[in-house]
Amino acid sequence: MAAQETVDQKYVYDFSEGNKDLKDLLGGKGANLAEMTNLGLPVPPGFTITTEACQAYLATGREPDGLAGQIEAHLESLERAMGKRLGDPQDPLLVSVRSGAKFSMPGMMETVLNVGLNDQSVQGLARQASGEGSQAASGGADRFAWDSYRRLIQMFGKTVCEVPGEEFEHALDEAKRAKGTQNDLDLDADDLRGLVGAYKKIFLKHTGREFPQQPREQLDLAIRAVFESWNAERAVLYRRQERIPADLGTAVNVVTMVFGNLGPDSGTGVAFTRDPASGAQGIYGDYLANAQGEDVVAGIRNTVPLQELEQLDKTSYDELLGIMARLEEHYKDLCDIEFTIERGKLWMLQTRVGKRTAAAAFVIAGQLVDEGLIDLDEALHRVNGAQLAQLMFPRFQLDHEFQPVAKGIGASPGAASGTVVFTSARAVELAAEGKSVILVRRETNPDDLNGMIAAKGILTSRGGKTSHAAVVARGMGKTCVSGADEIEVNVPAKRFTVAGQTVNEGDVVSIDGTTGKVYLGEVPVMPSEVVQYFEGSLDPEHIDNALVRAVHRIMTHADGKRRLAVRTNADTGADAARARRFGAEGIGLCRTEHMFLGDRRELVERLILARAEGEREAALAALLPLQRADFEEIFREMDGLPVTVRLIDPPLHEFLPPLEQLAVNVAVAQERGEDVAKEEALLAAVRRMHEENPMLGLRGVRLGLVIPGLFAMQVRAIAEAAVSCARGGGVAKPEIMVPLVGAVQELETVRAEAEKIIAEVVGDSGVEVLIGTMIEVPRAALTAGQIAEAAEFFSFGTNDLTQMAWGFSRDDVEGAFFWRYLELGIFGISPFESIDRDGVGRLVRIAAEEGRAARPGLKLGICGEHGGDPDSVHFFHEVGLDYVSCSPFRVPVARLEAGRAVVETGGSDSR
Ligand code: ADP
Ligand code: MG
Ligand code: MG
Repeated sequence: MAAQETVDQKYVYDFSEGNKDLKDLLGGKGANLAEMTNLGLPVPPGFTITTEACQAYLATGREPDGLAGQIEAHLESLERAMGKRLGDPQDPLLVSVRSGAKFSMPGMMETVLNVGLNDQSVQGLARQASGEGSQAASGGADRFAWDSYRRLIQMFGKTVCEVPGEEFEHALDEAKRAKGTQNDLDLDADDLRGLVGAYKKIFLKHTGREFPQQPREQLDLAIRAVFESWNAERAVLYRRQERIPADLGTAVNVVTMVFGNLGPDSGTGVAFTRDPASGAQGIYGDYLANAQGEDVVAGIRNTVPLQELEQLDKTSYDELLGIMARLEEHYKDLCDIEFTIERGKLWMLQTRVGKRTAAAAFVIAGQLVDEGLIDLDEALHRVNGAQLAQLMFPRFQLDHEFQPVAKGIGASPGAASGTVVFTSARAVELAAEGKSVILVRRETNPDDLNGMIAAKGILTSRGGKTSHAAVVARGMGKTCVSGADEIEVNVPAKRFTVAGQTVNEGDVVSIDGTTGKVYLGEVPVMPSEVVQYFEGSLDPEHIDNALVRAVHRIMTHADGKRRLAVRTNADTGADAARARRFGAEGIGLCRTEHMFLGDRRELVERLILARAEGEREAALAALLPLQRADFEEIFREMDGLPVTVRLIDPPLHEFLPPLEQLAVNVAVAQERGEDVAKEEALLAAVRRMHEENPMLGLRGVRLGLVIPGLFAMQVRAIAEAAVSCARGGGVAKPEIMVPLVGAVQELETVRAEAEKIIAEVVGDSGVEVLIGTMIEVPRAALTAGQIAEAAEFFSFGTNDLTQMAWGFSRDDVEGAFFWRYLELGIFGISPFESIDRDGVGRLVRIAAEEGRAARPGLKLGICGEHGGDPDSVHFFHEVGLDYVSCSPFRVPVARLEAGRAVVETGGSDSR
């Protein structure tokens, strides 16, 4: 959407005409320069060319009508105000040309300083500097002028004309070498004049033209280069990744130069109004005497801590502190600033609300509330779930000489060290001995679940962010590095090799699930204080920890604000207990499939293989007490809170041995003449059940309808567990959830049978059992009105819903093509990570509306990974769901975001 060009459109704003709320039009830098100007702070005069001018230029390839005239007019008034003309040979006005988009963006053109200098005006600048100079003798003034000129050619050449920067650097190094010095301050006027000559040659060589001597031409070329840098390759890539719209364009700021390189009483610096790392109050900054802006960041010379400016120039220092306090009060936030001192006079060149670490974000928000600058709603708005999640992971202390040996995908964050194991069984064994283990596999599958639960961390050599290992580990809040393909895993030999080294079972490795890095040996880990707080082992009222206190305060406020309840996905009593400590208000998804693995496998095989009625019933009867015990444990932990139990969902073949392996075993055994009747029966069953697309095959409610007694056994186990809980004085609130329903008839069939069992079991115990369904098949969403007739609740299974709405298999797509889709910007983030509002979200909306229309009071929730994703939580709030359910570790994140969603929509209830 390029800007409309109209005849008298205003493209240029004087700093006095703008303000901080005009970031769309003036860019962040321009809007804040205007704001500071209007606050009466010392900002060198200047003007801003709007993002609309840039959009028009990019759309048509030429400056829009009227722009040149407006620039001319603003330049003239600047010249009048300063009493100088741009590039005047006697007394030149010089300006900087600075890009500045709404969001700061690496890859775009940087700044060109000293525009207006040429072979004549460099002399005029020197004369003026010596004339009015306090400390700069005429030698110093000459030096200053030539230094400024060489900087112009360097910056202009590099950023406007794409001359390779190293060429200028080499020439500068050469000049220093010739002088026998490391320090650019030792180069005198003659050296710098010589350098200007060398720079001009470099410029000519690369551009085929002389360095432009016309000041106005320099200005126009620089402005145009800023416009064009919007579409530089690096900028385009960055925008795609960060989901910054491609049509915003950048503004251009033209600012009167002030000089920090005029001698020892001049200089330049950057500062933060608080520590951006910890949030601690105080002055944090760097200062460099006798330098121009870019030297500070370029690290040409060593800067000094800003505090030392007090000795060098007390007046400026005090003024600066006053301005910083003023800015904090005005922006009500941490600000970062750029400033320059020209011969004892302070100038402000930039400010913005500064970036900060996750810890600092919480601490600062808390402090600002204490200081009365913001209220708790605003504090809540200023932090986010991603930051909270970051604060919950343990971290490596990497101040030692640890070097990573491999780098994979940071699939599930955290830091874990432990003994390497290659099988699930070994992981369970060692964990039982109290050892920390890292489960290393090429890739994981559902059979590794027990090992994954036992392990501290999971390392795979294959698979991406949506691989089994990654998804399951994230769900458990367990550290995982996936796809570390430099690692050669050899499971039978119990070792892996990487970078020429062999790591055997029993050796120790450390994995960082945030960075994806793998280290040999044990890297020390720091536990997260925030988790200790959530676990209840740090009392915020009684410890001196600014972070924990801030987190406590903001979380408490979020809980008071939010409308969404937060439940957890938990399959074991231990998970349930932890999630409860983290604030979960129930279980939104208790999967029952892991209850069929391990020792119980054999029973499942019998169940599946059963030919005669009696056999199946025997298997089910054996499973019943085991299931009941599972549920009892969970109901106990969740006493008084609702627990949604999902009936068995995955394709049955997942519980059987892999086809190929079984076929080989049977063949070998037959060869040896062994009795293989049992194995043959198993093989036949596995063959019979083999599916090309298991995720679209016999699973979910379909299984329940095909295998007699299976769902009935589960329903009975749930009801009996609830009753036994109630008899023991507890309160169990089971909600039975039927997976993969697409038609109301499926649900009705299951329901009819379940209701009979429940009535029989529950009797007069007072236990109430709800029956509802997952909404995870698109057809279910589209017929939600019908389905609601048979369901007391809906729980959106957004993982399957995403998979089926898009028509791609979650286990396959990431490795196959997601990277390309992300690169092309087809989606900015995987739809499995954050809900696709337009497509999948629309299905959720339809189902919520039509379900509630058919059955007012229908309970609506979501389980699935989106329940813990900040953006998705906001969406579910907007749609009006009753709760989100997520992994225990994500519960605090969801609580925080559910509170933020209320603050951000002004508390409106969108139902
Ligand atoms: P960035 O966005 O990369 O920070 P800036 O436009 O802020 O780029 O410019 C970088 C530095 O150049 C500033 O911090 C400042 O020190 C210096 N600078 C920019 N404009 C001027 C000016 N008009 N006078 C003096 N120094 C300037
Ligand atoms: Mg800057
Ligand atoms: Mg599902």
